[in-house]
Amino acid sequence: MRKASTCAVQPSLQTLAVAAILVAFVSTHTPSAQAGTPVLHVLPWNGHKAAISLTFDDGDPSQWGTALPALDARGLKATFFLIGNNLPNKDVWVKAAQEGHEIGNHTMTHSHPKDFTAKQIADEASGAQKLLQTEIAPNVVTFAYPFTEVTPELKDAVKASHIGARGGWGASYYLKPTDTPDWFNIPSQATMTATPIDTYKNWIDTTESQGAWSVFMIHAIEGSTWYQPVPKKTFYALLDRLKADADIWVAPFGSVCAYWQAEKILEATVPSNQGHVHTYAWSVPSHCPKGVNLQVTLDDVGKPQLKQSGRLIKPNAAGVYTVSFDSGEFQVVSSS
Ligand SMILES: [Zn+2]
Repeated sequence: MRKASTCAVQPSLQTLAVAAILVAFVSTHTPSAQAGTPVLHVLPWNGHKAAISLTFDDGDPSQWGTALPALDARGLKATFFLIGNNLPNKDVWVKAAQEGHEIGNHTMTHSHPKDFTAKQIADEASGAQKLLQTEIAPNVVTFAYPFTEVTPELKDAVKASHIGARGGWGASYYLKPTDTPDWFNIPSQATMTATPIDTYKNWIDTTESQGAWSVFMIHAIEGSTWYQPVPKKTFYALLDRLKADADIWVAPFGSVCAYWQAEKILEATVPSNQGHVHTYAWSVPSHCPKGVNLQVTLDDVGKPQLKQSGRLIKPNAAGVYTVSFDSGEFQVVSSS
């Protein structure tokens, strides 16, 4: 476990090919491994092939007037990065958070980070976070840089009390499970008024074919005078494309950060073995949101049983166990 406040850890092993090599390696080369020691895999993206996060910046009225109802009609959850000193419609955001959308921090003043004074930085990072947690949602754990301007000083301040932050430009907009991302500058693709639906479908197809996570940055929807409103027809078609695809985990930015960070922690956890009982124990980082559940499979070693807090966890029909990351432990009992 690192000392950092995030859940970030070492790179993970994801592909079946790599997992197969690991099985061979563990069974033949690791002195401490015992016969029957389970080999555990955490399924990326909450058991889906790929993940997409829709993020909205600045709290524009078209977000609650048009985007939220359209998302809710399709059961899709998104992230809304709000500005601390610009919250004209608090009730709608409180309700959105209660219903499973994420509220993220987009600073107090939405001014240019490169102009922030040293004294101002704390107010823009943790100050705005505390205000949003008091006024809107109890657990604000992610951040978006205004104007996607990432300064080292602001980034450090954000790291101290968040689990991740969204930036803009990136070398790749498609993050793979084996990547070790910069959790405090996750790239995002910006939606523009003139962007055709085929471009968004291409982004989605690419995310899916690469088994990746991609983040969309949206400012406004048609009818708004704010930055780059997306035509309603295009926006609805984008949501319909996502809604129709069960292989994609459409989830808030913070939900994907938390799952992926927890996944990397669990995969780096070495069990302690006592006979047929293999105990996995880990520490939950301080800022990780509660309620993260991981989708786990075990290689078939002697019909293993998985117990968490003394309770037997049964796998689903596909052999997938749902385990609580909050619990900080589970045991695998193998019969051989
Ligand atoms: Zn903004």
